[in-house]
Parts: sequence; C-alpha cells; structure tokens
Amino acid sequence: NSFLELNLSRPLVRACEALGYQKPTPIQAACIPLALTGRDICGSAITGSGKTAAFSLPVLERLLFRPKRVPAIRVLILTPTRELAAQVHSMIEKLAQFTDIRCCLVVGGLSTKVQEVALRSMPDIVVATPGRIIDHVRNSLSVGLEDLAVVILDEADRLLELGFSAEIQELIRMCPKRRQTMLFSATMTEEIDELVKLSLNKPVRLEA
Ligand code: AMP
Repeated sequence: NSFLELNLSRPLVRACEALGYQKPTPIQAACIPLALTGRDICGSAITGSGKTAAFSLPVLERLLFRPKRVPAIRVLILTPTRELAAQVHSMIEKLAQFTDIRCCLVVGGLSTKVQEVALRSMPDIVVATPGRIIDHVRNSLSVGLEDLAVVILDEADRLLELGFSAEIQELIRMCPKRRQTMLFSATMTEEIDELVKLSLNKPVRLEA
C-alpha cells in the first residue's frame, strides 16, 4: 500500500514523498495499476479524492518508460474551466519535478501567441479547456494531435454542462484511434454514458 508498490519509477515516488503523500488514496490505488496496463478507464470520482494524481502518475510513468522518438504532444487533458486546468497543470508540474517531462497550460485568458509558441515547442502534456485548444488545432499547421497516446476528460459532467460536447467530439475525432482514454466524472448520467461510448474503448469502471 505504497507508491513504490504501485510500480511507479523512482522520480515519481520521490515527488509523492516531496508532496507529503504517505500512501495512495483509494482512487489512486485502484486507478494507477489499471491505467499502467493501458486500459481505458471511466471513473466516478470527486475533487478531493486524489483523482488528479490518480490519472497523472500513470501518464507520467508511461512517458518515462516509453520515451518518444521525436518531440510531440503525447497527452491531452481536457478540463471544464481555466481554474481547474491551472490546478491540474500545477499538480503535474509538481509530480514531474524530478523528470524532464514538460507540461503546458492552454486556456482562455492567456495570450494565444504565447501559447502557440509553447505548443510548437511540443510539450509532452497539454492541459487545456476545449474551446482554446480547438482554436489552436483548427488554425495551426504546426500543432496537431496525431501523436497523442493518452486523452483524459476531467470532470466530464461539468464539461457537458458547460456545453463543450461538440468541441469534445471534434477533438476526439482528431485523435488517433489507438490511444488510451480516461474519463472522470462526479456523476454518471445518460449524457456521460453517450460520451463514454463515443470516446472510450471497453472501459473499466472505477468508483471512489
Ligand atoms: P484532487 O482530488 O486531485 O483534487 O486532490 C485533492 C488534494 O489531495 C490535493 O491537494 C492533492 O495534493 C491531495 N492528494 C492527492 N493524493 C494524495 C495522497 N496520496 N495523499 C495525500 N494527499 C493527496
């Protein structure tokens, strides 16, 4: 019942120690081993459960373990609001502090030009709100999603409540078919089930 036993690499275990995490939360203990196998995951988890680290740690492990041959955006994390995106981004920077993995924040309210430059430098992970990232991929010849290995839909219920359904569908269509997708939601509604059917492949369901 430790992060080391979850088969996470030393730099990630060190980061958890540095953050003062003594042991994985229930969603982390369930999600991390499963995510490391590459399965799609549909998790009902609320804020405060430790879900951010539950999806971030296996993603970081995958990036460490399977380095890319050429620089590319490998992971896209979609969140409903700028505030949540900033929180997820900051958590990932802390968890990745002993690695050279790069994470970039792409949200409304920040300069599009600055973000374009950041995206062109091919960060490994992009944390974004749907509206802003779609502007970039629609209008850019240099920023594509074709090398994505993992897509995460965080707070999917709020993504749908805020009317991002069409954007998410458009983004999912631009992603490679062969990928890992994880969806987290506080509630599981019919709309969420539709989104699950559309974007996940034989997902394992987790509750925390
Ligand atoms: P989240 O549910 O991802 O919003 O996380 C809620 C809070 O729990 C954040 O402040 C995390 O830093 C913290 N947290 C995440 N995992 C752990 C853990 N294993 N032990 C203690 N705190 C944690």
